[in-house]
Amino acid sequence: MKLTFLGAAGEVTGSSFLVETDDVRFLVDCGMFQGGREADTKNRARFAHAPAALDFVLLTHAHIDHSGLLPRLVAQGFGGPVYATAATCDLLEVMLLDSAHIQEREAEWAEKARTRSTGKPPLYTVAEVTRTLHQCKAVEYGTAVQPHPLVRCVFRDAGHILGAAIIEIWISEGRHTRKVVFSGDIGQPSRPLMQDPAIITEADVLVVESTYGNRLHKTLDDTLMELEHAITDTLTRKKGNVIIPAFAVGRTQEILYLLVEMYRQGRLPEMDIYVDSPMATKATEITAKHWALLDKDAAALLQWLKSRHGHPRIHFVQDVLESTNLQRIKHGAVIISASGMCNAGRIKHHLRHNLGRKECSILIVGFQAAGTLGRRIVDGARNVRIFGIPIAVRADIYTIGGLSAHADQAALLDWLAHFKRAPHRTFVVHGEQATAEIFAAAIHDRLRWTGVDLPAQHSAVIL
Ligand SMILES: [Zn+2]
Repeated sequence: MKLTFLGAAGEVTGSSFLVETDDVRFLVDCGMFQGGREADTKNRARFAHAPAALDFVLLTHAHIDHSGLLPRLVAQGFGGPVYATAATCDLLEVMLLDSAHIQEREAEWAEKARTRSTGKPPLYTVAEVTRTLHQCKAVEYGTAVQPHPLVRCVFRDAGHILGAAIIEIWISEGRHTRKVVFSGDIGQPSRPLMQDPAIITEADVLVVESTYGNRLHKTLDDTLMELEHAITDTLTRKKGNVIIPAFAVGRTQEILYLLVEMYRQGRLPEMDIYVDSPMATKATEITAKHWALLDKDAAALLQWLKSRHGHPRIHFVQDVLESTNLQRIKHGAVIISASGMCNAGRIKHHLRHNLGRKECSILIVGFQAAGTLGRRIVDGARNVRIFGIPIAVRADIYTIGGLSAHADQAALLDWLAHFKRAPHRTFVVHGEQATAEIFAAAIHDRLRWTGVDLPAQHSAVIL
């Protein structure tokens, strides 16, 4: 068996792994590279394999850094099935269509602006996304699927985002069958909404993520106290609005859950919550549709909310006019909007109208990459420009650091500690190089595992 690391090797994005034997050839994930100037070049590079020669693809979850190049794979000749959980298939439709729209829009702008990138076609189109979605095959957690006579696999709940999976794969070669486990992205245990990651006890070969393999998260209790203080102080004492930039899929639903739960506990005042992002609204609908996958507290809270006849008041804002009307609200509103890093979308309008008012607060609840408006706000900029208009920052800025869809170092090591014996080979992926190194050393020190490697991009191992 040959395993090739096509992405997420020494970095976080671009997850894609090629598994080959004499009889079968498949990918686990086909993610987009994100961030930095090299990303576009990497996304546009030729695939290191012939897409038409792949038998199938296994997809761990819908995040674009795991799924974002699937339409390109299809456009270049891949006609086989993509196996993913039903919730992932639903989220994929929302996320890939959004991704294609962004691609098409950027290509148009580049064309109009006649920039250096003029002439670059979109990475893929809406039509290619539609073809991709037709190739998706929904699977259930815990049920074995056989995508090939010599390959059997089981998807297990990864507790990361809705539908996310750890994939166990049994591959037969000659008289031998070996088990390969891909962790995908693993969630932090005891987080709101999501189940804890499923326990795996055996593997011959393990490919494990390491996004936060070098640090520990704040506790959920501390995070809730920060949220409670920020919202209560803003709505009750300062009498302003709370603006929360949040990723449409995952983070928005998590924040909604926490707000409703804290309201139920009497920790938050009466308020109007607005979800102002069509994509977040769709993702919330998909989450509610798959409520059976959520943890039992979330299911109970959903029941409670239904019995409350509209308190707290949650508004899903659809059209642009409704969104514009929110700008007239001066106090009592909690507005959750995308994009999560404030560099695009409706959130920019809300920041424009609230960032300059000292009675308002901005709650930063997610990662802010270098170079984004969100990062400048977090870093304490006194003045920013939004749509070219200078704005003096007077609102309070809260950075709520404890919410993460990824397990921290302790949780990752706990998950690994369930293995009855060390896998023959372990590959640490999906982490910045320095982080992955620290995590690999921790695996060695704490679990005494040997055979732990940090693969480089495009490297291949024969197993
Ligand atoms: Zn992810």
